Amino acid sequence: MEKTLRILVVEDSEDDALLVLHLINKGDYNIVFERVETAERMKTMLKERTWDIILSDYVMPHFNGLEALELLKESGIDIPFIIISGTIGEDVAVEAMKGGANDYIMKNNLQRLLPAIDRELRESGNRAERKRAEEELRILSRAVEQSPASIIITDTEGKIKYVNSKFTEITGYTPNEVLGQNPRILKSGEMSQDYYKEMWQSIALGNEWFGEFHNKKKNGELYWELVSISPIFDTTGIITHFLAVKEDITSRKQTEQELINAKEKAEESERLKTAFLTNMSHEIRTPMNGILGFAELLKEPNLSGAEQQEYINIIGKSGVRMLNIINNIVDISKIEAGLMDVHMKESNVNEQIECIYTFFKPEVEDKGMKLFYKNDLPTKEAIIGTDTEKVYSILTNLVKNAIKYTEEGSIEFGYVKKGDDLEFYVKDTGIGIPKERQDAIFERFIQADITDKMALQGAGLGLTIAKSYVEMLGGKIWIESEEGIGSTFYFTLPYNSEQEEKKVTGKVVQTEEVKNQIYPKVSGLKVLIAEDDETSEMFMSILAKTFGKEILKARTGLETIDICRNNPDIDLILMDIQMPEMNGSEATRQIRQFNKEVIIIAQTSYGLAGDRGKAMEDGCNDYISKPINKGELLALIQKYFKKYP
Ligand code: ADP
Repeated sequence: MEKTLRILVVEDSEDDALLVLHLINKGDYNIVFERVETAERMKTMLKERTWDIILSDYVMPHFNGLEALELLKESGIDIPFIIISGTIGEDVAVEAMKGGANDYIMKNNLQRLLPAIDRELRESGNRAERKRAEEELRILSRAVEQSPASIIITDTEGKIKYVNSKFTEITGYTPNEVLGQNPRILKSGEMSQDYYKEMWQSIALGNEWFGEFHNKKKNGELYWELVSISPIFDTTGIITHFLAVKEDITSRKQTEQELINAKEKAEESERLKTAFLTNMSHEIRTPMNGILGFAELLKEPNLSGAEQQEYINIIGKSGVRMLNIINNIVDISKIEAGLMDVHMKESNVNEQIECIYTFFKPEVEDKGMKLFYKNDLPTKEAIIGTDTEKVYSILTNLVKNAIKYTEEGSIEFGYVKKGDDLEFYVKDTGIGIPKERQDAIFERFIQADITDKMALQGAGLGLTIAKSYVEMLGGKIWIESEEGIGSTFYFTLPYNSEQEEKKVTGKVVQTEEVKNQIYPKVSGLKVLIAEDDETSEMFMSILAKTFGKEILKARTGLETIDICRNNPDIDLILMDIQMPEMNGSEATRQIRQFNKEVIIIAQTSYGLAGDRGKAMEDGCNDYISKPINKGELLALIQKYFKKYP
């Protein structure tokens, strides 16, 4: 079949051109041709049309064969260029061949032309085939080199033959460091041997393998990769190499993990919220029922004195229980909001232990059990710098729990000195806590017995608060417990003995003071009660009757200042901090500008951030927490208005 041959003839003589074409026509070609005789025209033809070969004269009036050859090279088109000339000498022919001409034919030897064209076309075809392959290879290797995935090629023994630049970027290993090595240099040791085994088995059988690796970089950093490994076969179907394409998914993994954590946290919060609401509802309703129910019963006529006392007792106890739960909620909220302050001062732990012992002894004995305590250090050495109220709260919580969860036997508490710490313990012979719940009970709202939450009263907050306090004070808390045998809660506090000498004296004096208190009755005071809440004011007025002869009342800060100005002989102001118009802090500051003598006792809300410290800064002499405890108030009055013997 005839092949189309597209010839560009560079020739000034039309006759010569026709002669050449005539000769070629004898071949098996269907000829398409164009004759050009200027460089300009040749350029246009090269640009506008496609050619298979160029036949060029050497000497022409407007330009010559070498210039034509140069034009072809500049165009970047790769087709055979044959010079046909009548005048060409050997030196010119050599120069033309060096310049890239494929052949030269003398016009007097034109029978060589057709075979030369045939040969050149054949070779040019081969060259183009090969060139395309090289080009493809170049593109592919560039793609592999620049790939955003890291790529490793190994031989069938797993020796690394190639890594791309992304591999170096991710792992920190240069090609020289890894060529010839096995990819196991990246192993983190975090994945099981079986995982790798399964991968090798799969690819050795000719399958593709997909998975994830937790690998290690040169600098030791761990990272996650999403990996596809596939075998490369030769033309006979034998595996020659393995190709691994890997994507760094460390940050994706992290995000995934964060999402999972967030989800779990959200679910946990949801669960806790429900548990909290159920629990709170029960915990608040129960004492509320006690208070409202028995207050109602008290109204009945004809109650005996004993009955009245019993009902009043129940109302009192329910109130205490209610207050306890509210205090716990406030504490936990403050802890979680990071608002719980620590006030470090010297504290005598022996005194604390003894105080708790005295307080709980009757309750334990009422239950038919025994309470013991143990102080390891002599009292004058038992002084540490810590937050006394928090230590008191921790011990109280643990002892209360011990009493609550023990029906017979004994409870023992105290401390021993161990190294630089005091190790406190509270040991009971109670119901104990199953191993798998021993960590959980320190979490908020968690009780050991999740199946029967209402078994004993409590909101699951005590231990959480205790744990937070222990940690704030630089210690740790743990538990040893066996079901049915009993539990021992331990916690440590740092024992810093340096300050002990200095502070012992001060402390001892104070202790003596407390011991010598005999509460001789204070009376005859002129008292101003600054309080906006009617019930609270009524309660204060009743208490104040025991030490006051004249009682004045103010409902706002401004009123308080007015009354104070008009009555310079007032002895005592019981100052509520939260009042309308002007609060107690501001009122105190203003009163202090004209009266420095009057004793001002602030009534602070339990646990409100900084209330106490602030009250003292404002110029109050002391503070008392609401709800006001009669004994505490009387002790304060005693402190300011009675001289000790
Ligand atoms: P609660 O108000 O429920 O007592 P806590 O945080 O004080 O809350 O205690 C959490 C849970 O730990 C309790 O519900 C109880 O199941 C368990 N627990 C605490 N102390 C003891 C103890 N001494 N003996 C047995 N179980 C205890």
